[in-house]
Amino acid sequence: MAAMHIAGNPQTLTPLQRELIDVAATLGREKFAPRAGEVDRDARFPFENYEDMKRAGLLAICVPRAHGGLGADFATYVMVAAEIGRHCGATALSYNMHVCSTMWAGFIADALDMTPAQRADHEANRALHFANVVRHGKVYSQPFSEGGAAAAGKAPWGTLATPATRDGVDGYVVNGKKIFASLSGAADFYGVLCTVDKPGATIKDSLYLALPADAPGVSVVGDWDPLGMRGTVSRTLLLKDVWVPGSARLMPEGLYAQAAMRYPHMFATLSPTYMGLAQAAYDFTVAYLRAEVPGMPPVKRRMYPTKQIAVAEMRVALEQTRALFLANARDAGPDPDKDTRLRIYAAHYTIMENAQALAAKAIRTCGGQSMLKSLPLERIYRDSRCGSLMLPWTAELCIDRLGRECLYEPGERDEELES
Ligand SMILES: Cc1cc2nc3c(=O)[nH]c(=O)nc-3n(C[C@H](O)[C@H](O)[C@H](O)COP(=O)(O)OP(=O)(O)OC[C@H]3O[C@@H](n4cnc5c(N)ncnc54)[C@H](O)[C@@H]3O)c2cc1C
Repeated sequence: MAAMHIAGNPQTLTPLQRELIDVAATLGREKFAPRAGEVDRDARFPFENYEDMKRAGLLAICVPRAHGGLGADFATYVMVAAEIGRHCGATALSYNMHVCSTMWAGFIADALDMTPAQRADHEANRALHFANVVRHGKVYSQPFSEGGAAAAGKAPWGTLATPATRDGVDGYVVNGKKIFASLSGAADFYGVLCTVDKPGATIKDSLYLALPADAPGVSVVGDWDPLGMRGTVSRTLLLKDVWVPGSARLMPEGLYAQAAMRYPHMFATLSPTYMGLAQAAYDFTVAYLRAEVPGMPPVKRRMYPTKQIAVAEMRVALEQTRALFLANARDAGPDPDKDTRLRIYAAHYTIMENAQALAAKAIRTCGGQSMLKSLPLERIYRDSRCGSLMLPWTAELCIDRLGRECLYEPGERDEELES
């Protein structure tokens, strides 16, 4: 049976979108999927996949064309990421951390307000970081999480960047700890979010800095033996008196806080991986019931009405998920109106929750042998479980925001109830 296109109808795509999704599909099918079982079993980083993506130009997918990248927009990137997630969830998730480093410094930063001095500084800094990716094949990651309220957007980052000059160069000394640092030990640069260390600093005094992985004071600690997404190798990062020059800024001081307010789609890049996993659970189920899974006995199971109903229900859920995924891809841009913003939460929630529901249903429908570790489904099941835990938009926080914002306009308060 012909593979379903991740975007539904490929006729709606631009030539660049079609080409890049085809590249991702070929790499995914021929390279990433065959390696995914071993990467998962050993909880190791898929370096070979990154070499393949580097050769295909995919590491520079969101680097602007003016800087030698592919210049992909939001919609193009998320469809490519979903196609990668279809074949290896862990590769797609860590790839997202890398790509977002370039996307945030790229077209998202372009849409934000900066003073002329900030803009000039940003242009100079990002030229260095884009060249690192395009010319030198360097990989960036995004370790933000600290285990507290900061990654949920409710407190300043605990990691501090103290302005400091060394040998006449202005820069920062960074101290802190980041948990779940995907690509730990694999990235060349860790893009950390910090608070500028100054009296009265608030959530607005954020700073997004690229720290070289080999800078003195950077260390990776702790073990890594999680339920799912094992190939992301998301260990703990310790930052002890790490000095970096000002050119380490991936955004000017304070700009991350503006981006989080004005370009909320920047966080919706975590769900494409899970769109891909939802598709993978469906793909597997169809192949399994048709007795087309390599290595399995040729026993067809498709003739049973209950299994047909289950597949039909899976297809409905998959198409609902894809529809919101594509709507979200089209909507992305600065300063979305309220309904667009609520649609992002609804889409993100739906993708994260439906991915795991589809994977669970796939196992129930296919039956006992389908969950053997020799087959990809049980990995898809475990990987898909991780989606709704990702900050800042866990499934719970999406529901919190939706519930509140559906019922209240900004500034509205309820009167005190009299007892
Ligand atoms: C496989 C995997 C890879 C990851 N990779 C990265 C990465 O590369 N970079 C990165 O930065 N992070 C990464 N994460 C981390 C992820 O985004 C979350 O930060 C992490 O899962 C939170 O774990 P926690 O136990 O601290 O969560 P929680 O305890 O759920 O949340 C942390 C804090 O957020 C606030 N909070 C949570 N829920 C609510 C709520 N309902 N209402 C109000 N406040 C709430 C609370 O202050 C809470 O203490 C990864 C996670 C996984 C599973």
